[in-house]
Amino acid sequence: MRSSLAGPRVLLRRLREVMAEPIDAQERLDNIVRLIAANVVAEVCSVYILRADGVLELFATEGLNKRAVHQTALKVGEGLVGLIASNARPLNLPNAQAHPSFAYRPETEEEQYHSFLGVPILRAGRTLGVLVVQNKEHRTYFEDEVEALQTTAMVIAEMVAAGELEAITQQGTTIDLTRPMHLTGVSLADGIGLGHVVLHEPRVEITKLIAEDGEAEKVRLGDAVQRLRQSLDRMLASGEFSQHGEHREVLEAYRMFAYDRGWIRKIEEAIRNGLTAEAAVEKVQSDTRAQMLRQTDPYLRERLHDLDDLAHRLIRELMGREHGAQDSELPKDAIIVARNMGAAELLDYDRDHVRGLVLEESGATSHVTIVARALGIPTVGQVEDIVSVAEAGDAMIVDGEIGQVFLRPAADVEQAFAEKVRFRAKRQEKYREQRDVASVSKDGVPVTLQLNAGLLVDLPSLEDAGADGIGLFRTELQFMVASSIPRMQQQQMLYSKVLDAAKDKPVTFRSLDIGGDKMLPYLRFAQEENPAMGWRAIRFGLDRPGMLRTQIRAMLHAGAERHLRIMFPMVANLDEFHQAKDYVERELKHLRQHGHAVPADLKLGVMLEVPALLYQLEEIFAEVDFVSVGSNDLLQFFFAADRGNNRVADRFDALSAGFLRALREIAQAGANADVPVTLCGELAGKPLTALALLGCGYRRLSMSPSSIGPVKRMLLETDISLLQSEMQTVLQAGKGRSDVRAFLQDFAKTHNIPV
Ligand code: PEP
Ligand code: MG
Repeated sequence: MRSSLAGPRVLLRRLREVMAEPIDAQERLDNIVRLIAANVVAEVCSVYILRADGVLELFATEGLNKRAVHQTALKVGEGLVGLIASNARPLNLPNAQAHPSFAYRPETEEEQYHSFLGVPILRAGRTLGVLVVQNKEHRTYFEDEVEALQTTAMVIAEMVAAGELEAITQQGTTIDLTRPMHLTGVSLADGIGLGHVVLHEPRVEITKLIAEDGEAEKVRLGDAVQRLRQSLDRMLASGEFSQHGEHREVLEAYRMFAYDRGWIRKIEEAIRNGLTAEAAVEKVQSDTRAQMLRQTDPYLRERLHDLDDLAHRLIRELMGREHGAQDSELPKDAIIVARNMGAAELLDYDRDHVRGLVLEESGATSHVTIVARALGIPTVGQVEDIVSVAEAGDAMIVDGEIGQVFLRPAADVEQAFAEKVRFRAKRQEKYREQRDVASVSKDGVPVTLQLNAGLLVDLPSLEDAGADGIGLFRTELQFMVASSIPRMQQQQMLYSKVLDAAKDKPVTFRSLDIGGDKMLPYLRFAQEENPAMGWRAIRFGLDRPGMLRTQIRAMLHAGAERHLRIMFPMVANLDEFHQAKDYVERELKHLRQHGHAVPADLKLGVMLEVPALLYQLEEIFAEVDFVSVGSNDLLQFFFAADRGNNRVADRFDALSAGFLRALREIAQAGANADVPVTLCGELAGKPLTALALLGCGYRRLSMSPSSIGPVKRMLLETDISLLQSEMQTVLQAGKGRSDVRAFLQDFAKTHNIPV
C-alpha cells in the first residue's frame, strides 16, 4: 500500500501554525510529532536531539511509550538512530529489527513496528538530532516521503537553533548545538582576545522557512538563478574578478555549479515540499555539506567551499542582500571569523573593535597575518570548520600564544583565561621594564632590534617597545587601505609623520611591494598563473615608473634635511637596483633644480628575498648602502613552497642547515664588504629563530612590535660567541647535525635562555 503523504506542503503549513502557537517547547514538539505521524500515515513519529555529551535523547514521540521520553538515550553510532546521526544520511528499512545496528530499548515498546525511516536533523551540515517514523507493516518508504521528512526536519532544526529546547533539557545536560568547543589551530599572531563572533561573510538569517505559494517561490528561484548566472558570466568575461580578490578558477567552479541541473532540481524539489526558495537552497546546501564534511579528500572539501559560497550568493540574491556586505554594526569586542581574507579586508575593520581573528586557512607569513600582527590582533589560523560551527554572536576566546580557540567557553575556561591575561600583563610589565636596558648580548655584543611597521598605529610602539628604529616600513599598506591611489602629498604626509615619530632613530622605507597576494582593490592586474613570482614589487615599479617616481619624490620631500633610507623589494639582479637608483638620482636632480631641500643623508638598499642574489653577493654588496633579508619570500622561493599555502608552507623547516647556511653566507658577505645587513622577515620575531640568526652572524633584526620584548629577553641571556662557535660546527657541510632546531633548543635549555 502506498502511504498517502497528504502533501508535505499541507504538513508544513500546519507546522507553521504550531510554531506560532504560544505554548511551551515540549507541547510544541509533541504537537509536531503528532502532526507528522498523521500526515505520513505512520504509527510512530519520534524526535531525538543530540546532547553536548554525544548522546541522542528521545525528546518527543507519538506512538512509542511516552514514559521513554527524556529517558531513552543512544550514543552517536549506536542503534539505527545513532547510525543516522553519525552518517548524516537517511535510513529507510522495511524490517528495522533485521538491521545489524538495531538496538532494542524495552522502555519504548517498539518491537511491534517493523518499517523504519529516519532522517538527520541538520543545520549547516551539522547533525542536531534525528527524526524517525515507523510502521507496523513491512514497507519501504517512497523517495518523496524521505524528501518530505527531511524538509520537516529542517523546521525542527530551526527550533533547536532558536534555543527553544534548552528549556526542556534535563538538569545537567545541554544541547549539542550550544556545546562549548575547543579547537586547535596554528598560532599566527600572539595575544589573547575575549569577545564575540563576527562572521566575515555573514550567513543570511532566513526568517521565512515555509512558503505560502509554491509556484511563486519557483519563479523567484528561477529569476535569482538567472541573475546569479549572469553576474558570474559577466565577471568572468570582464576580468572583474581580480577586483574582488577572486580567482578565475574559483569563479569557473561557481559557474559550473550554477549551471548544474542536479543542484537546481534538488532545490526545486524542496520548494515543492513547501519551503521558500531561500530555505530550499539552504536545505540542499546543508544536506550536501553533511555529506562532504565526511570526505577526507582535500579536493572535494575545496569544492565544498565553492558550493557554500555559491549557495550563499544565491540566498543573498533571493533576499536582496549584497555579496560580502556587512549589514550589522561591529560589536565592541569582535572576533572576526573567516575562511581566509586578504590583508586589505582586515584593514577595513575598525581596529578598536577587533579583539581577535580566527581563520580556517592562512599561514604564518601570509600578508593578512603580517597585518594582524602589525595591528596586534591575536590570531589563530588553520582552524578546521570554524566558519560552520561558529554562529554570529557566540562567545569566543582566541589564544594566539598557543594557537587555540574556545567557542562558547564554559565559565571555568573564562576564569582561567582571565588569569592568563593577568599573567601576560605582568610579563608585558617585565618587557616594559627591560625597555630601556641596552640590547646587548650576555657577552657584550650589541644587537639592533627594530620594528616592522606600515601604518600610523604602529608608531607608538617605537617608544613602547623601546625599538631602535624601523627596519622595514611596508609602504603598500597605505595603498591597501585607500580606495584609490594615494596622492603624492598623502604619501609624503605619512612618511613625514613616521620620520617625526622616529625622532633621530633610523627608518627604512620600502618602495611599494604590491602584486602577488597584495592586490589593490582599485588597480587592475591581469590574472597570473603564479602571482608571487609574477609582476610584483620592483618589477611592477620599474615597468610603471610613474608610480615609483611619485613615491620616491614623496620620500625625498619627507626626508628633506634628514636621514633617509629607501630599499627596493624583490630585486633579482643588479640591473634592477641600478634602474631604481637612477630614478632616485633623477628625482634628486629635479628637486635640486627647483630649489627644494633634499635629504642630508640618503642610503639606498635592496631586499634580499630572491635566491638569485645569493650568487651575486659580492657584486650587490659592492653597490648598495645596506641589505635587508626578506626571509619570508626568500624561504618560499628557496624551498619552492608557497608561503600562503598551508599544505606546503610548513613542510620545510627554516631552521634547516641548508637555509641557515645561505643566511650565514649573506651575513658574512655583508661583514666582508662592511655593509650593514638586517633581517626583517618573520624569522627575526621568534626567540628561537632569532637565536639561530644570531648564531649565523646577524646583528640587526627587524620584527613586529610584540616580538621585541621576548627577543630582547632572549638576547640578554645569550652568549653570542659561544653560540656562534657551536653553530659553526653544527652547520659544517657533511659533518654537522641535520636537526639544527633540536640543537638550538638544547643550547637554550643548557644556558637558561628563554625561547
Ligand atoms: C619578507 O619577504 O620577508 C618581507 C619582510 O617582506 P613581505 O613579508 O612584506 O613580503
Ligand atoms: Mg617579501
